[in-house]
Order: sequence, then C-alpha cells, then structure tokens
Amino acid sequence: MIRQFELVERLKAYDPNADEDLLNRAYVFSMKAHGSQVRASGDPYFSHPLEVAALLVDLHLDCYSIVTALLHDTVEDTLATLEEIEALFGPEIAKLVNGVTKLSLLELQSEKTQQAENFRKLVLAMSTDIRVLLVKLADRLHNMRTLHFIPSPEKRRRIARETMDIYVPLSERIGMQSFKDELENLAFAQLNPEASESVLSRLKFLHETTENPVEQIINELKDVLTKAGIAVQVSGREKTPYSIWVKMQSKNITFEQLSDIMAFRVAVDSVSQCYQVLGMIHSKYSVVPGRFKDFISTPKPNGYKSLHTTVIGPLNHRIEIQIRTHEMHRIAELGVAAHWQYKQGESHDGRQYAWLRGLLEIMEQASGPKEFLEHTKLEMFQDEVFCFTPKGDLISLPRGATPIDFAYAVHSAVGDHTVSVKINGRQMPLRTVLQNGDQVEIITSKTQAPSPTWEWFVITGKARSRIRRFVRLQQREKFLELGRSILQKGFHNDPIPISEKILQQAAKCLGYSSVDDLYAAVGEGLHTVGEVIEIVYPEQKRSVSPQVPEQVKEKLSSGTAISIKGLIEGMAVHYAGCCHPLPGDKITGIVTTGKGVTIHTHDCEVLSIFSDSERIIELAWEDDVTLQNRHAGRLKITFLNKPGSLASMSTTIAKQGADIANIKVANRTVDFWDVLIDIEVKDVEHLKSVIASLRALSIINSVERV
Ligand code: MN
Repeated sequence: MIRQFELVERLKAYDPNADEDLLNRAYVFSMKAHGSQVRASGDPYFSHPLEVAALLVDLHLDCYSIVTALLHDTVEDTLATLEEIEALFGPEIAKLVNGVTKLSLLELQSEKTQQAENFRKLVLAMSTDIRVLLVKLADRLHNMRTLHFIPSPEKRRRIARETMDIYVPLSERIGMQSFKDELENLAFAQLNPEASESVLSRLKFLHETTENPVEQIINELKDVLTKAGIAVQVSGREKTPYSIWVKMQSKNITFEQLSDIMAFRVAVDSVSQCYQVLGMIHSKYSVVPGRFKDFISTPKPNGYKSLHTTVIGPLNHRIEIQIRTHEMHRIAELGVAAHWQYKQGESHDGRQYAWLRGLLEIMEQASGPKEFLEHTKLEMFQDEVFCFTPKGDLISLPRGATPIDFAYAVHSAVGDHTVSVKINGRQMPLRTVLQNGDQVEIITSKTQAPSPTWEWFVITGKARSRIRRFVRLQQREKFLELGRSILQKGFHNDPIPISEKILQQAAKCLGYSSVDDLYAAVGEGLHTVGEVIEIVYPEQKRSVSPQVPEQVKEKLSSGTAISIKGLIEGMAVHYAGCCHPLPGDKITGIVTTGKGVTIHTHDCEVLSIFSDSERIIELAWEDDVTLQNRHAGRLKITFLNKPGSLASMSTTIAKQGADIANIKVANRTVDFWDVLIDIEVKDVEHLKSVIASLRALSIINSVERV
C-alpha cells in the first residue's frame, strides 16, 4: 500500500504547486470516515482510496483529482456528507466527489447487453467533468485488481461483466489504452477462466521451451535504423491474453512463436521520421500485403496515431511493427489523461478528440492545463437523457422528454393508460422534464385514456402520434353523435321517413361504408342534411334544396336545441375564447371540419362571420351540467394600486366558491391596475354573484365580463 507521503512526493514531482495541506486534510478525513471498515482482501478499507489516488498520480492528474480520489467513497460508504466535504474542501471538490458518487450509484441493474451502449452514454453524460470519469475508471481498475478477494462468484462475474461492457469501452473511447488493456484482461480472466488459462499456459510453455527471438529482432531493427542515422527506441511487447484470444477466435489462428503475439514498436522524435523509418523497413524486408495502416494521416476516433505495418522481418519472422513519435505513444497510452501533462504554453493538437463534442474548440483555444480543466465539461449526449424503469431497464429519450414520452417509449399501452408518475420515488407532475439517471415509475389504470393536453408537452413522435390518434377517435365519436342528431332533426322537420335502410343507401351513394361513417361526416360538416335527403329522395329536390339551409337555421334558432350528451367533457368540443360561454348563457355551436364544435354565446360577434347555416347549430346546456363541471369566465377588473388589493380580491373570489384560473396584467399605472382574471365558476348566476361581491369592494373601480 502506498504511503501518504509518497503520494504527496510523487504529485509534487510533477506539480510543485500542489496544495499539500489540502491533500493531507483529505487523507485524514478519509481515514477517519472509513474508520475500521475493511476490504474483502482484509486490508483496511482506506487502502482503496489511497491506491486509486496513486493510479491518478501515475497519470499526472491535478491535485483536485487526487483529493477527489481520496474522498471518493466517503459519501457513499460512510457517514460523511457532501455538505461536510463542501465545507472542508470547497465547492469544486464537493462537485467532483458528488459526480463520482452518482456514477457509483448507477449499477447496471440488469444483465441485458443491449443496455450497455445506453449505459455507457449515461456514464459519459453524467460525467460532467472529465476528472469524474477518470477517478471512476481508476476506482474500477483498483476494484478489478482486487476482485479475486470477493468470495461470491456471482458478484465477481457481475462486476467483471460490467467492466467488460461499460468501463473497457469507455477507457478505449477516451483513448486510455493502458487502463483498457488491464481492465479487459482482469475481466476476461473472470468471465472466461478456461480461455484465459489456456492462453496463459500456452504463453508460459512458449517462454520456457522456445528460444526467444524477440531480443534478436529488436537488436536487428535497432541496428538497421541507427545506421541510417535515426535515433530510435525499439521495443517489443507481448499482446495481452484477451487480445490473443480475440484474434484466435476471429482469425481462426493458433500461435506457434512468441513473435506471433508480439507487437514491435519503433519510437522516434518526429512525424517525418515515422515515414522515413517506414520506408526503410519496407525496403529492407518483404511487406505482407494488406496490413499497412496509416493512423497518422487518419487517426482513430479516440485520437490514436501510429503507422502499422507487417513484414517478414529479422530471422524470417512475420512481425507487426508500429511506428510512432514519443508523443503519440504517450497519448496512445494515456488518452485524455495525457493532456494534463501539457505544460503551460505548449501547443497541442486537440483534433484527435473530435468525438468530444465541444471539447474540441476548448482544447484548441485553451492556453494551458488550468484553463483546459476549467472547461472540460463533457458535452456529450446533451441531446439525450437516459432514465431507468423500476426494473432497471434504461430508456433513452430526447432531451426535454417528459414522463408521458417515457411511458410511450416503454409501451404504447403504458402510455395510453398513464395516470401519474413517481420520479425517484416522488409523485411528480406529468409535464416534469426528465433528468439523466431518473428512475421513473408510471402509474397506470385501465380506465385512463390519453388526454389531448398531453400533446402540449410531449416531445417524442411516438407519444404525439398515439395521443393524436386517440383524440381523432374521440372526435369521431363526437361527430358521429352530432351527425346523428342533425340528420334525425333534418328528416323529422321535413317530415320524411327515416330508416336504417334509407341511411344505408345514402351512405353507399356518398361513398361511405357504414351509416356511422355517414353520421360522422355530417357531424364534421362534410355534408348537409339537404344533400342526404336529396340523395335518398331525388324527387324532393325542389322542395328541400336549396332552401334547406334556411329552414334548418330558422327552426334551430327558434328555440329547438340539440342536447348532446357528454358535451362538456368531449374532446371535440371547445369553448370559444372570445366570449367564454357559461352554463346559463344561450349558446350556439359552430361545427368546424377537423376541429369539432366550438361553443359561443348566442350573441357573440364572431358568429356573424359564419354564413354557412349548416355549420351553425343551436345548443343548450343539459340540466345537470353545472353539477359536473366548472367553467372559466373572464373578467376585466380595474382596481386601486395599493397594498393588499390583490389579496382582498382573491379572498372575495374564494369566498364566493370560485377559483382563479389565470391572471394577466393588462395595464398598470401609478393609480390603477387593469387585470384580466379567468375564474372558474359553476354557471352564469355564479359568475354574477362573484362580480357583485367584487363590485362591493372599495378598491374596485370596475368589473366587467369580457
Ligand atoms: Mn471506490
């Protein structure tokens, strides 16, 4: 176990300005917090944060990252709180610790591999600061190194699986080859012990029984290149057991020689030397066709740069050679972490991290590591959010999505029957915008149906189209009822016998497959009663058309009212915003194609615009209408601008048993305010009593119904 003073020494070696006092305080805090806790290995728990810190010192990360590593498990595993950490170590460290804690809480709750990609994105999206991710990766690496101490095989497997699915690809993605290789091989040994064993024993056998050609190959390569006057460093590295295994599986090959599983590296000072070395190797040895790759001119997405080639090299061994600069090598091993090692003022090429959206510009503009750190907010997947179902499945949604979008993403039936939602265990409004990592529990009921108001806040196409479909179906119901009333009335008034048979005939003539379709079409205003009558009784033509509209209008307006059951609850019925009709008002409906019925007061000016009489229908409120619903009436109120005015108004309205639905300030002067207030009342009488009691207030200048 590394000692605290060593940690400080090593950090000071590359960062002389590191805050030693801060490190020591973090050390003491963490040691106290973890107290007598022990690891599965029997070591004191505290050895773990210390080792994680040491891993990050190896990456030359900044002092705050090291402090975060020391504290990273205190909030999750001890009595320490984030508030304490903020008070003792400041807001930045508290934020970093909080980030790591949050990532630790996101255990992959299901083993479904198709979740892995979403989960990786979630981890990235939640790592708002790249240091959070680096601490998390170091944490995972140390846990994997000590995984064999965990007694439960299931737990070991689960952690290894998670490492393979999540943390290995993440390390690769941010270019940290050394972390990636080690995590991968530790996970491999756990997940496929037989395969791992067989590769390792084969390697052992080759090491023991065959002459090792590696040394000779290195020496020959070195000779050839040095003679040409290039300062090179040549090394040979055995491929990892896991990569050998993958190669054996995918290429159906075995390995006979150690050179088969070696990667030889030539490191030089400059890019031009890379190509120079390549040319010399190609002219000296036979090139294996199809194996040359130039990752310098076209780097890998994670920023990896190198030239790869395979030749029949020294001793007639077929070998793969990677040629790169020292700098490329460092970045290949350390990835994003390598950028902390840049000294102030040194130029660096941020192009290799193009995948870190937004980060690119920052890296090119940042003048040094300090500024770079301040701006490394991972702006990845900012257009997506990832939320859990109660069972732990991850649902990916566009940013801004609400629980209704979530419900429809889970299943259409869940969406259709959504009643309410619990987010992270708390009851929340359905319009709440979901956040990364939210656990979303949709409460459903078989009797619940989509509400058209949902359409105002859903953002996914699936949710929107389901809601619209449902609303259309509901509208059809309304149109159907309306059409039936219109036709029955029209025929009755004429008086012409009406029968199912006649209507079927009419429907057929007009191209509808059922009488219901005909009703719906008439209800929607696509056909007039006159048209229908004309079709079934052509001989009536003269007497009913074109006068029908006039007749119908006259009759309807002379007191006949179509009473539609469920009118006020219906989707296809709207109350006009111009006149705010209330029960008790005389009302008139306008049938608009595709929109349903809009209800106006009988004397609303807007009605004069509609000339087609068939589209105007007289309506009446049902007797029990007031019992079921409340309606919004709009008042324009002018009152004295003095303290307490609004309060006494709202008290008065409440005393009358009415509710304020909306207030809009129309005009405001030193002396008076003009406001528009929508209040919910039972009917006109109710509204009148509210108006009267408002007028009784001394502060009121005028009250009018709009
Ligand atoms: Mn940990």
